[in-house]
Amino acid sequence: MDPSTLTISQLRAAYGDGSVTPADAVRSILAAADARDAELGGYLSLDGETALAAAEAADLSLPLGGVPIAIKDNLHVKGQPCGCASKILTGYVAPYDATVIARLRAAGAIPLGRTNMDEFAMGSSCENSAIRPCRNAWDPERVPGGSSGGSATVVAADEAIAALGSDTGGSVRQPAGHSGCVGLKPTYGRVSRFGLVAFASSLDQIGPLTKSVEDSATLLQVLAGADERDSTCLDAPVPDYRASLRGTAGLQGLRIGLPKEFFGDGLDSRVRGLVEQAIDRMKSLGAETVEVSLPHTDYGVATYYIIATAEASSNLARFDGIRYGHRTAQPVDLLDLYRRSREEGFGPEVKRRIILGTYVLSSGYYDAYYLRAQKVRTLIRNDFDKAFAHCDVIAGPVTPTPAFRIGDNDADPLALYLADLFTLPANLAGLPGISVPCGLATEGGSKLPVGLQFLAKPLGEPDLFRAAHGWEQSGHWQESVLG
Ligand code: GLN
Repeated sequence: MDPSTLTISQLRAAYGDGSVTPADAVRSILAAADARDAELGGYLSLDGETALAAAEAADLSLPLGGVPIAIKDNLHVKGQPCGCASKILTGYVAPYDATVIARLRAAGAIPLGRTNMDEFAMGSSCENSAIRPCRNAWDPERVPGGSSGGSATVVAADEAIAALGSDTGGSVRQPAGHSGCVGLKPTYGRVSRFGLVAFASSLDQIGPLTKSVEDSATLLQVLAGADERDSTCLDAPVPDYRASLRGTAGLQGLRIGLPKEFFGDGLDSRVRGLVEQAIDRMKSLGAETVEVSLPHTDYGVATYYIIATAEASSNLARFDGIRYGHRTAQPVDLLDLYRRSREEGFGPEVKRRIILGTYVLSSGYYDAYYLRAQKVRTLIRNDFDKAFAHCDVIAGPVTPTPAFRIGDNDADPLALYLADLFTLPANLAGLPGISVPCGLATEGGSKLPVGLQFLAKPLGEPDLFRAAHGWEQSGHWQESVLG
């Protein structure tokens, strides 16, 4: 048995019976990365020696003792580069641990490597990485999804046991969906963002990408909770998430809301078919479905791309060539230093967002765009409040299509933005969401994973785990194949 293929629970059991040691696990992961990562590009860097030293010192009595977890390149791990897959952060080394990293360490886990991403988490395909391309582990001609594409790829290719990502508009759930992993975006404020490089502060959340729903619950248990260093972090008690993992028994009486807006035109027929089959199976095991309506769904993309770019333009103002990373050579004066450092350091998508965000915040346009977007955001949140009066979870697809070919959307950033329509609402409304694989779509000789998404009310993570675990335990998702 190759330890790199195991889930967290399986690995912990293997440590428990002595059949595997943490050093075996790290070596097996390094071997998998050696074999596949030159092609896949999931990691931007991987320091095997540090990981092996941590493995030798692992305390197996801790909940995640000796479990290697890959880390997205926008999370601070003390002493390691933290570059957000951007040239502007060249040479920047994290001076401290993010709260999530401190929590992982306290639970005994081993932070492993830096995973590839869209530059500053802006994108849905990992094609915006300024460092190297990242490919889908199921079909290297295709994108892994994004922005946490590297985290999804290393989990899917057994180059990690699990990984952390960040989700501002879908960046954990969407790559998980495209790569056949489980991806969780917790409720806004459930997990501290201290030490996460900010993209859009009213939307960002950190979440795990895992091989099973159980592992997702195990990781959230460690990550969740108040943090005095993040004022947006909630002080709500952290429930026992594992108690909501009840297998198919948990489906008994579960009320699943189906918004018709999530099943409209433009949804790939295989994605529709696989999601509907999954819901039918859940019904046959005791779940009930109700039709719900989210009438403002159509406005989600526009609302998100106004709010996210506005916040990004402000957050990214700090990268000015003075304090972090890249500084232009021989500037003529201070303004020239700022201008050329930013010009040289940021890639085209990041520049597009900064320009758009600056525009929607500028005087004269603020009311027409930013303020109006905030009002629509409230309407979107109200839609969910009404829907959750009738159901425990809302179900639907993660993306309108399976993973596309690398380069297919290069000429049209708007087409990529539009494909985020099912994941953005959770961020706009602050809700938790989970993506679980529900089958495979065949295309041109490849089998491509398709994700099923569940959303719940704020702090409704136990409902998500109940639904997702029930589905996962109802059979083998890889046996559902549609062409
Ligand atoms: N695809 C979305 C964007 O480009 C979401 C990215 C994210 O969640 N970080 O903004």
